[in-house]
Amino acid sequence: MSMNEIVKKLLFIEIIKGLALTLRVFMKGLLDPFSEKKTIVTRRYPKEKRPAAMGFRGLHALVRNPATGEAKCVGCGLCAAICPSRCIYIYTSEGTEHQKVVDRYEIEVLRCVYCAFCVEACPYGAVVLTPHYEYADYSREPFYMTKEKLLQNWDRFMGEKGYDYFDSFWNPGTGHFKGYEGQAVFRGKRKTEQVDEKKTDTGGESA
Ligand code: SF4
Ligand code: SF4
Repeated sequence: MSMNEIVKKLLFIEIIKGLALTLRVFMKGLLDPFSEKKTIVTRRYPKEKRPAAMGFRGLHALVRNPATGEAKCVGCGLCAAICPSRCIYIYTSEGTEHQKVVDRYEIEVLRCVYCAFCVEACPYGAVVLTPHYEYADYSREPFYMTKEKLLQNWDRFMGEKGYDYFDSFWNPGTGHFKGYEGQAVFRGKRKTEQVDEKKTDTGGESA
């Protein structure tokens, strides 16, 4: 250890520098709390909420079919089959035209591990995890989501903007990647894939 480092340690220089920085930021925030150039990094939650990132795995919702206003779910049961927590319950019956009718669709939210397998498995884009994260409660009952509650979640936390959100994050099409074509990661990958494909083709012909 050099002499400089020993002196710094003995005089607590680094600690004093850290405390001075804390005091400076604190005083700045105190004297000018409404400044545009905010230096404060803490939030006054719950008044100041943090917006959830795209694809945040929050409270569940059933997607409404914009044409009919009903749930998009057709009761195929894939979500329930893939759910590792076995917390999705679907009850169906036969309709007047021999179609499957979803009588009940329920999720026991307290058992969910938020893996989003249900969202990925659904072939109809009918179930989603919304960005809503404030749903603490004092009893278990509110966490048992019925079909009606899940549809209400869609209306409250997703609504019209939800269709775009769902498509761009959970069900992206080619159009959603526009603007990213120039990224090195895509270019590099494509070149490698092309080389690999050529190699495979040549191998297949000679064999
Ligand atoms: S997020 Fe995972 S654990 Fe939760 S309901 Fe969906 S599949 Fe089940
Ligand atoms: S939410 Fe999707 S996967 Fe689950 S039963 Fe409905 S249509 Fe099938």
